[in-house]
Amino acid sequence: MVKREKIVVRFTTKDVVRRLFSFFSPLLCRGCGRKGEILCSCCKNYIVSGLRPKKIQEADRGTFKKAEYIGFRDEILGELVEEYKYGSVAEIGPEIAEIVYRIYVSRLSPEKEYIFAPMPTSKSHIRERGFDHMDEILTELARLSRRGGGNIKKERILERAKNTVQVGANEETRRRQAKEAVKVCRSFLEGGRLKKQIREKTIVVVDDVWTTGASLTEAGKMIKKAGAREVFALAITKNRQGLSPVIYSGEVETISRQCQKQNQQSRKKELQSQDQSKRKG
Ligand SMILES: [Zn+2]
Repeated sequence: MVKREKIVVRFTTKDVVRRLFSFFSPLLCRGCGRKGEILCSCCKNYIVSGLRPKKIQEADRGTFKKAEYIGFRDEILGELVEEYKYGSVAEIGPEIAEIVYRIYVSRLSPEKEYIFAPMPTSKSHIRERGFDHMDEILTELARLSRRGGGNIKKERILERAKNTVQVGANEETRRRQAKEAVKVCRSFLEGGRLKKQIREKTIVVVDDVWTTGASLTEAGKMIKKAGAREVFALAITKNRQGLSPVIYSGEVETISRQCQKQNQQSRKKELQSQDQSKRKG
């Protein structure tokens, strides 16, 4: 039985208000508060233009040819991931997928074929939340790629070996648990090795957050051991070094100021043109 340690989470009053706000009004932009969408296009463009894949310095280079993350956990992308995962707001999944697609997939080599393998969520968490968040995100990501004539596929290569829960566990416990937590699914193996059509492609192991990297690294090692030619790691978000609690970064304030103004201006223009066409008609 794994004991869950308590995580300390620090919120500012504004953050609490905003979280309550979003909880009771699901269809408000998480960036600027505009009604009608979970993330308006202005805020989405802002997020996409400000982020690019960054190298995970501490990743094991023997395992991963490339290891990258997209945003920090205390930035708006991190907040979206948290709300999707713990608040089970289903509409957020496709938005995260689109952001990952535009930032990460768009920079992959068009000549290669990629298999995106989600880190499997424990069965107890899937039961609690009603869905497997990483699987949903990658399903949408593969759909976006198909639509764009792309070269990525999602395969559930990994599965949970044991029901260990990592929330709050310390680094050493995490490492030990990680070794036992995941394994390569039998259906992808042939005589103990990954099937040919899988192992010759680039396999990207994806998780929502890089905390110590223990589980992603262990998963990567297993896939490598099973004969994969090239393994990448992708964490959608990463903890800032030395800061494990989620701390509010204030980024939302900047986005909100910019996009509120922009949305107001475009609304005004819309009204004006409606007005003009009415007068003409
Ligand atoms: Zn917005």
